[in-house]
Amino acid sequence: MGQGADPAGPRAFRAVYGAAPDGVWAAPGRVNLIGEHTDYNDGFVLPVALPQTCQAAAAPRRDGLLRVHSSGVPGGVVTLTPEQLVPGEPAVEGWAAYPAGVLWALRGAGHQVGGADLHFVSTVPAGAGLSSSAALEVVTALALNELYGLGLGGGALARLCQRAENEFVGVPSGVMDQTAAACCVPGHALFLDTRELSWRQVPLALPAHGLRLLAVDTGVRHALADGAYAERRAACERGAAALGVAALRDVPPDEAQSALERIADRDVRRAVGHVLTENERVRRTVRALDAGDPATVGPLLTASHTSLRDDFRVSCAELDLVVDTALAAGALGARMTGGGFGGSALVLVEEGARERVGEAVSDAFARAGHQPPRVFDVEPGPGARRLV
Ligand code: ADP
Ligand code: MG
Repeated sequence: MGQGADPAGPRAFRAVYGAAPDGVWAAPGRVNLIGEHTDYNDGFVLPVALPQTCQAAAAPRRDGLLRVHSSGVPGGVVTLTPEQLVPGEPAVEGWAAYPAGVLWALRGAGHQVGGADLHFVSTVPAGAGLSSSAALEVVTALALNELYGLGLGGGALARLCQRAENEFVGVPSGVMDQTAAACCVPGHALFLDTRELSWRQVPLALPAHGLRLLAVDTGVRHALADGAYAERRAACERGAAALGVAALRDVPPDEAQSALERIADRDVRRAVGHVLTENERVRRTVRALDAGDPATVGPLLTASHTSLRDDFRVSCAELDLVVDTALAAGALGARMTGGGFGGSALVLVEEGARERVGEAVSDAFARAGHQPPRVFDVEPGPGARRLV
């Protein structure tokens, strides 16, 4: 695109809208270190911000219109009138529903937000389970927050973005992705309690311990994903009802075994088993990181994968191949991350094994006839911020 180091910067904005922006903001994608399918059970998650971001150059408009443009999407500028910023009919089609939903959610919460022109450029791969959608929402929310002096904090912005995605776009996601994009800090994972909506920064200083965290984007997304997500959510709700708790979060770790024995349905029992053990693995991961012992997180990652594959049953051949190959090549731990049925996996390796493990995974994909995976290093980065 030829915009140098600042791809969504003033020059690109001017080329689209013919005037200078007021500022440029960025929000990252994320990987979830551990705590998968726990968020809609009021449980614990531990996401990390990626170095890849969605950037937005933005300027306010007096006429209430929202105009959006993304360098990643053909089709030019999308213009939305205030009358279109209502959920349901007439629906906002396509990607523009994400930024439109954010403006709708802000106005719906009573904030005085006028119109805006926004130009986006993202380096977060879309649909890879790395939450390009939350990066897009959160960068929109932060830009509007600052353009209109709303003074909202990261947690409030994240909740409004979740509302936009749930109610305006119509995707029933939890609040993890948006909170990670809004609230992460460099060198840390975000230990988020999805019931209390409280969080704590947990040190994840991998280079200091001679470790690397790799993300492997398999490039696949199986059609099963959406239906299976709804089905697993329903199984968790049935499990909570069978146990007489508001959410699976309410089952104490030392009662997990007896709770499972009280669930008659095999599929529900297995789903509940995953969630209960996964919450405990998040707590143990946090304890290991607090104790300055990140290498011991490896087996917890692998145990998470086994549970997601065998009990929650949301893995797939490509994700299993990453995990099995990485472990055989000497990784300390590996697991699928994100919703499953494709997307990305995480691998924890010692510095010296990084190349070997990456190559082993690429070779295994080539031998299996899969498209080449994208392997990249995860350095815990900053959450949403202003760039210019
Ligand atoms: P994920 O969040 O895991 O990447 P989703 O399906 O939740 O996958 O979100 C991907 C969708 O978000 C895309 O199909 C597109 O509609 C929207 N999106 C993400 N990034 C951009 C971008 N830079 N420009 C336009 N739309 C985007
Ligand atoms: Mg998403």
